[in-house]
Amino acid sequence: LRIRPITNEDTNLPTRFQRQVITTSPHTTNQVIVHQNDKKSQTFTFDHVFGPETMQQEVFDNAILNLIDQFLEGRYNVTILAYGQTSSGKTHTMGTNDNSSIPSESKGIIPRAMETLFSLMNFSQYKMRQFTIKVSFVEIYNEELIDLLGEQNVDEERPQVMIREDSKGNILWSGLQEIKVNNVEEVMTTLARGSLNRQVGSTDMNSQSSRSHAIFSVVMSQQQKSLSSPMSPSNSNSGTPRMNGSRPPSRTQQRMSKRLDDVENMTITSKFNFVDLAGSERLKRTSAVGDRAKEGISINSGLLALGNVISALGDPNKAKHTTHVPYRDSKLTRLLQDSLGGNARTLMIACVSPTEYNLNETINTLKYANRARNIKNSATINQEETGWNDLEHLQSLVMKLRSEIKSLKSNS
Ligand code: ADP
Ligand code: MG
Repeated sequence: LRIRPITNEDTNLPTRFQRQVITTSPHTTNQVIVHQNDKKSQTFTFDHVFGPETMQQEVFDNAILNLIDQFLEGRYNVTILAYGQTSSGKTHTMGTNDNSSIPSESKGIIPRAMETLFSLMNFSQYKMRQFTIKVSFVEIYNEELIDLLGEQNVDEERPQVMIREDSKGNILWSGLQEIKVNNVEEVMTTLARGSLNRQVGSTDMNSQSSRSHAIFSVVMSQQQKSLSSPMSPSNSNSGTPRMNGSRPPSRTQQRMSKRLDDVENMTITSKFNFVDLAGSERLKRTSAVGDRAKEGISINSGLLALGNVISALGDPNKAKHTTHVPYRDSKLTRLLQDSLGGNARTLMIACVSPTEYNLNETINTLKYANRARNIKNSATINQEETGWNDLEHLQSLVMKLRSEIKSLKSNS
C-alpha cells in the first residue's frame, strides 16, 4: 500500500476535506490506520505500507528489486499492478508516463526496473548468455485492445490484437508491435511514444487521468551462447563489477544461472508486466454522462473481473471447491492469465490519497487490496528446448529415437 502526499490539487479543496484521515502505524511497517470523525479508528494490514514521505527509490528497493532478480533467473513471469482511484498516485508510482528527461529521484518503477535489468545483464557471470529484450505496450479501453506502439495511420485500420493460449497455458498476444530494445534509453523512448497515444478523458476528478488500463510488457529470452566462443571460467567469479549502484546478482541468482549454464540449447523466456490500472472510483463520483458513463461502467467491470480472479486464486477454501478461475470475464484478466496465479509473481500496489475528501474510495481500495493479499502462486521454470518449433529438427530427432528404440529392442 502506498499513501501519496497531499498535492497542490488537494489544497484547492475546502479545508475540512483536506484533513489527513489515513496514517501509517507508528509501531509497524505494514499497517495503516483510518481515522474517521464519528467512528472508532480502523486498522488494515498489508505486506508493506509506504507513507506519504516515501521516496520512489525506497518503494523500488523494498518492493521491486527482488522481483527483478527472480525475473532475470528466468524462473517467473512477473506482474506489478497499480490499483487505486484516479489521482491516487498509480502513474507516478509505476512511471508509466516517465520519459528519459525526468529527474532521477522522480523516476517510477518502470525506468528503475529497466535500469537494474540492463545493468545486471552486463555482469560477467552472464557473459555466456545471449539476452533478447522486447517490449510492447497495450491499452484496454472499453474492453477493446489498443496497441500503443502501433502505427498511428488514421486511414488504415488498426491491426486487431488477438489473445491466444498455447498448449502449456502461455498467453500469446498477436498482431501487436514488439519492439526489440538494447538499452534503457530505447525503452524510455518507446514508453514515451506509447504514453502519448493513451486515451485520456477528462472527468471532474482529475483532468489528466486516464480512463483505461495500460500494460507495458517486457519479454526477455535468454540462451546459453555456443561453447565454441571463447570462455574463461576463472573470470565468471572474479570481482563482479558494481554497475550504476546496483547490487551484484543474488546468491539464488548465481545458483540459477549455474542451472541454466548446465542446460545447453535451452531458451528461457519470461515476461514482466507493468500494469497501470484504470481509476477504481465508483461511477457516481465522476458525474459521468453519455460515453463517459459507458467507459465508467466497463472500467469497473474489468476491475471487478480482476477482483474475482484474485479472490478465486487467493481464497484457500474457494480454491479447494472450485477449479474455475474466471479469467475470461474481461480482456484484462485474460491478457494477464499466465501472470496471475500461474507461473508468476504478482505484486499489487494499492495507491490511496490521504485526504478526507477521498475517504470512501480509500476504504474501498483498502478492502480490495486486503482481499488480493491472499493470492498464492506456484511457479515452474519457463524453458523450452531450442528447435522445439522446428519441424525438420523434430523429424530428424524422431528418426534418431526410432533407430535407438529399434536397436534397444533387438539387443534385449
Ligand atoms: P493516478 O495515476 O492514480 O491517477 P497520478 O500518479 O497521476 O495518479 O497522481 C496524481 C498526482 O499526484 C500527480 O500530480 C502526481 O505527480 C502526484 N503524486 C502522486 N503520488 C505522489 C508522490 N508519492 N509524491 C509526489 N507526488 C505524487
Ligand atoms: Mg494515472
